[in-house]
Amino acid sequence: MPESTATPQQPPTPAPWPDGVIARYLTVAGAPVDLTDRTEESYWRYDTACGGCPHKDSFLSVEPARRDAQAHAERCRALPRPEDAR
Ligand SMILES: [Zn+2]
Repeated sequence: MPESTATPQQPPTPAPWPDGVIARYLTVAGAPVDLTDRTEESYWRYDTACGGCPHKDSFLSVEPARRDAQAHAERCRALPRPEDAR
């Protein structure tokens, strides 16, 4: 049994998801593509935003937003800037 050490080797702690993010898709480069629900106050309710490149889009309903985020995550190879890690 390993003892707890003074310098534990922590797995990288995932940052908490930003408010409103209902789904995240990981690109092959490790950047998150966030799907945000802006609630019904917003006409373009669902936003997708890539953490590695400037890709952003807005959708009226969640299904096309999910498809966009999924499709983008599959092809985006941009690396997230380390200082943007939230
Ligand atoms: Zn991207």
